[in-house]
Amino acid sequence: MTARRLDGARVAAQIREELASEVAVLAAAGCRPGLGVALVGDDPASAVYVASKTKACAETGIHSETARLGADATTAQVLDVVRGYNARADVHGILVQLPLPKQVDTEAVLHAVDPKKDVDGFHPENVGLLVQKRPRFVACTPAGVMELLRREGIDLRGQNAVVLGRSDIVGKPMALLLLHADATVTICHSRTRDLSAVTRQADVLVAAIGKAGFVRALHVKPGAIVVDVGINRITDEAEARELLSPKRFEGFRERGSALVGDVHAPQVEAVAGALTPVPGGVGPLTIASLLRNTVRSARWVHERSASD
Ligand code: NDP
Repeated sequence: MTARRLDGARVAAQIREELASEVAVLAAAGCRPGLGVALVGDDPASAVYVASKTKACAETGIHSETARLGADATTAQVLDVVRGYNARADVHGILVQLPLPKQVDTEAVLHAVDPKKDVDGFHPENVGLLVQKRPRFVACTPAGVMELLRREGIDLRGQNAVVLGRSDIVGKPMALLLLHADATVTICHSRTRDLSAVTRQADVLVAAIGKAGFVRALHVKPGAIVVDVGINRITDEAEARELLSPKRFEGFRERGSALVGDVHAPQVEAVAGALTPVPGGVGPLTIASLLRNTVRSARWVHERSASD
């Protein structure tokens, strides 16, 4: 058996097209959606993520701007940027790219974001609303996964869903969304005993642990739907030979690195019913969710101002 490929890039392109039409309508009504980004420090991966997010904004017609602060920025300086965006009527969404340098109080910064502009869904008010099944802004990666499953026609009702990872950004909101879609949800983490026995119960398995190729055939029930959230850059040739298909391994030899997920794709493809690729799976959906949250935020502002 070869797993069906769940093409996140294709679904994300579809979502972005729909959003571009909505942005055009809002802009014509005088409310062009705007995203304010804070990029702090010199983490190359963060710079790449911010560049792809702002490029996606431009392609969708969303205005975006990026405030850049050095690696020695203080909490007060980052808070100033956030408060500046909070006060601006033309900024409907605020994105603080994580991780922040260690001297910056991440919690204080995330809590300072106006919850009505918190398009990343990290503010406790938005987390609380999600827990109560009254979502306003939902964390972009899990929201993107749900959209993919919905558009692929995967019905979650009554299914056993296992989420591997319990971070605030991915694992926990993912589990809540699956629960709200009437799946029976189990969350696993580094202290879970007999992990493969638990994951093998999953009709839907979501891997978000940050370990290259961790999920093997032995973790997967035959026919399961496997969503690979992980993004790991590998540079070791032996690891690449192990984790990559022969074609992708050729690319690795040319570039000296490759992106892989938390799932050992060549092994799991042979067992699962469906699998998201890395790259081209969940990553593009995360960006599409960010755009969608920003457009929603602008629409709500516009609707409020129209009803005043
Ligand atoms: P974190 O490091 O915050 O969380 C990892 C989680 O995995 C923790 O809950 C940890 O358990 C658990 N874990 C680690 N090792 C094991 C193990 N051996 N067995 C079982 N559980 C384990 O990571 P994130 O949630 O932020 O990210 C996870 C992955 O997703 C990363 O690869 C990241 O790059 C990627 N990512 C991808 C995005 C996308 O757009 N596609 C967006 C965000 C993240 P414990 O809590 O016990 O420590």
